[in-house]
Amino acid sequence: MTNSGKGAKDTDPLKNIVAHAKEYGFVFPSSEIYDGLQAVYDYGQNGVELKNNLKRLWWKSMVQLNDNVVGVDSAIFMHPTIWKASGHVDSFNDPMIDNRDSKKRYRADELLEARIEELRDAGNENEAGELAASMGKLLESEDLEGVRDLIIEQGIVCPLSGTSNWTEVRQFNLMFSTHMGSVSEDSDKVYLRPETAQGIFVNYLNIQKSGRKKIPFGIAQIGKAFRNEIVARQFIFRMREFEQMEMQFFVRPGTEMDWYEAWMEKRMNWHVAMGISKDALRFHKHEKLAHYANAASDVEYNFPFGFKEVEGIHSRTDFDLKNHQEYSRKKISYHDPETNVSYIPYVVETSAGLDRLFLMTLCEAYTHEEVRDGDNVKQRTYLKFPAFLAPNKVAVFPLVKKDGLPEYARNIFNDLKMDHQVVYEEQAAIGKRYTRQDLIGTPYCITVDHESLENGTVTVRERDSMAQERIALDKIRSYVEEKLSDRNLLNKI
Ligand code: ATP
Repeated sequence: MTNSGKGAKDTDPLKNIVAHAKEYGFVFPSSEIYDGLQAVYDYGQNGVELKNNLKRLWWKSMVQLNDNVVGVDSAIFMHPTIWKASGHVDSFNDPMIDNRDSKKRYRADELLEARIEELRDAGNENEAGELAASMGKLLESEDLEGVRDLIIEQGIVCPLSGTSNWTEVRQFNLMFSTHMGSVSEDSDKVYLRPETAQGIFVNYLNIQKSGRKKIPFGIAQIGKAFRNEIVARQFIFRMREFEQMEMQFFVRPGTEMDWYEAWMEKRMNWHVAMGISKDALRFHKHEKLAHYANAASDVEYNFPFGFKEVEGIHSRTDFDLKNHQEYSRKKISYHDPETNVSYIPYVVETSAGLDRLFLMTLCEAYTHEEVRDGDNVKQRTYLKFPAFLAPNKVAVFPLVKKDGLPEYARNIFNDLKMDHQVVYEEQAAIGKRYTRQDLIGTPYCITVDHESLENGTVTVRERDSMAQERIALDKIRSYVEEKLSDRNLLNKI
């Protein structure tokens, strides 16, 4: 997110981004004509392209470029016992607390996390560490009364009422449930999956056997997940319906920490390769481990509302496969031909939220700056997406709507659209057309003018520098191809 300061629109950068996302067809509140549905969003004509590009690059770097990773696409509905085995029925809870004066609901752990962050920012590292450890212990042992006492002891107040008139802390299960079939009985209860990972675990045997996979190997999946979040805020950062891109990597027990480190490095490199500045990214090691993990770190991005998680890298031990073996009574062990030993594989997972990557990409690309035009200083807003992520790669314009220029431009458009997402536009003055493409982040605009008819060259304007160069028509396809290639970038991961 670049903002030159003076002339910036709203002082809250997230507000600008949310407004921009709506105005230019990236993200709309769901069911908007019915006043929306809380924490549910729809992706518009440009949003869906950006989202698909993120998915494509993740899939390519995970599945296509890793010889030992394959994909799967499992159903959202799964046998309800899966969620018992995975621990989600009993433990997929968030501790919630209400302020009696403002009637606002909060996540108790988030109130404490914010306090820890505050202490760190003030340089009280020791105090922050002690508080994090106490919080971790209390949450681990499910001592909810202790969590409440800690909130009060820390003098944490509700930002709205300013009081510490807190209710008790209660656990709230985040899974949505519904009924399968026409009769609603408890035995027909099914859940909307809260993570895609379980679809991978229950297909582990099918894929290992049908693909004759040898450990170590991974299974990747992109798909919807649903969580009835207690507090859903910050635009598409925390939604009740969202998409995950997860990969479970099955390894020999005892080697999981090496793989955990390796995948942490690989995933951080991926985010940097996607155009995110290194200093806006960091790792955050978990103090409180989820019920299935023996090590966990988050990749965090510096959003306008602070450093927050975009992806988790977890060492999940054999927790899931072991439990599925127990609950399903199907043997899930693997006979290792190298060591001649049978075991249940350990798992290292990388779990990214597609919508959070989308928001991170948008925040990083949103640029508002001043440009000099002779003696004038103008404000300029544009989306500085890397070309391979931009919703539209090229816009093709005839300078004017006559003299055969539209036909000439349409031929270029029709040729390029066979390989790329390209738009054609002939309305409005050329400057306005450039501005509009800048606002949606199109990296290249090709303009056909009268000179094109004479010498077979067109103008290519580059979004960030606004520089223009003339290129021969027969070089256009290879020019665009080279500029849009993700080959060099994916090589670095
Ligand atoms: P948080 O602590 O923010 O609730 P989490 O630790 O519960 O996240 P995981 O269970 O590790 O998240 O899920 C993996 C990824 O899925 C997260 O890194 C995040 O990018 C994404 N994700 C999780 N919950 C949501 C949500 N409600 N909306 C959007 N993305 C989400």
